[in-house]
Amino acid sequence: MTRALYPGTFDPIHNGHIDIAARASLIFDELVLAVYDAPPKKLLFTTEERLALAEEALAHLRNVQVTTYTGLTVVCARQHGAGVIIRGLRNVADFEYEHQIGLANRQLANDVELCCLFCSTNYAYLSATILKEVASLGGDSSLWAPPYVQEALQRKFGQRPPLPPSMTGRGTKMSHHD
Ligand code: ADP
Repeated sequence: MTRALYPGTFDPIHNGHIDIAARASLIFDELVLAVYDAPPKKLLFTTEERLALAEEALAHLRNVQVTTYTGLTVVCARQHGAGVIIRGLRNVADFEYEHQIGLANRQLANDVELCCLFCSTNYAYLSATILKEVASLGGDSSLWAPPYVQEALQRKFGQRPPLPPSMTGRGTKMSHHD
């Protein structure tokens, strides 16, 4: 039996993440999606909130469980008996980052393999950062995240109902037209 670990920040989980988890769940016998509790970046959602949204998003995948972790990813992988770490690649920037971290992880734990899956073309531009920025401006994020994630974003940003894409606000990168 092969178990894989899919670690990440998931702030919040979106369709790009869900797509990678679903595809990895077809390759491996079991998948553990692990929400990292303290990444070196500013978070919108608490660890508990990120965990709850991820659990809801992956509830339909019977061989997938969701957990949180702290500390080294390779240690988390070993603790869960996972011999493989899954990561998603959108572009060259992701590749360079994963290449470097992957080689460092290999030094730390050469019994844990890295398996990178290319994202689906539909989500190649999607990041949690873009999702949050569009949601904060009242934009429609229904193509990018499940309804409960959209609702959680609306609650964070003051319950504003989404506007059609053509009516999103001005004043930030997402609303700037060159
Ligand atoms: P991290 O801070 O660990 O990169 P993220 O939550 O941003 O955490 O991403 C978790 C994983 O999901 C990473 O491997 C990332 O490359 C991947 N990922 C992010 N966005 C997408 C997307 N749109 N499609 C596929 N994979 C993605």
